[in-house]
Amino acid sequence: KSGFISIVGRPNVGKSTFLNRVIGQKIAIMSDKPQTTRNKIQGVLTTNDSQLIFIDTPGIHKPKHKLGDFMIKMATNTFREVDLILFMVNVDEGLGRGDEFIMDLLKDVKTPVFLVLNKIDTIHPDKLLPMIDQYRTRQTFQEVVPISALEGNNVETLLEQILENL
Ligand code: GDP
Ligand code: MG
Repeated sequence: KSGFISIVGRPNVGKSTFLNRVIGQKIAIMSDKPQTTRNKIQGVLTTNDSQLIFIDTPGIHKPKHKLGDFMIKMATNTFREVDLILFMVNVDEGLGRGDEFIMDLLKDVKTPVFLVLNKIDTIHPDKLLPMIDQYRTRQTFQEVVPISALEGNNVETLLEQILENL
């Protein structure tokens, strides 16, 4: 199986950390350059029988700045072109404006979206369910997957779920 996957989320939620863990090299860090208008490949995970190609979404990581129509179109095009979207949030923070901004863009695409709750190592397990509910009342997700990109908890499970949905 193979597929294109876009990881979106506010700054500092752990996108690069996740990619570095999954790909095992410092590839993701290298792509943290000023936004361009073209999609960038952040990393490729190749196993015996599968290939996952992670794609950056230009413009979307700077929700504080108002996006022009052009950037919104670019981001939306990326979402339409990939096979799966990982919407990553920091489980230790509530639903914020940056999240809402991204979720509004995701509403209009048919590509399946996983809600990835990252940094579960930083919270008490009791806080997990309320967090999930907060996002779920806003939007429907194909899967909701709690992980710790830093410590690796549940990352393998996330990869399996990605493959199942390709
Ligand atoms: P990005 O801006 O979304 O690419 O976020 P980064 O990957 O650069 O991570 C931002 C900060 O959060 C860094 O200091 C990471 O070490 C930290 N971080 C990322 N994932 C986790 C996690 O699962 N747990 C904890 N405790 N910290 C994390
Ligand atoms: Mg990053």
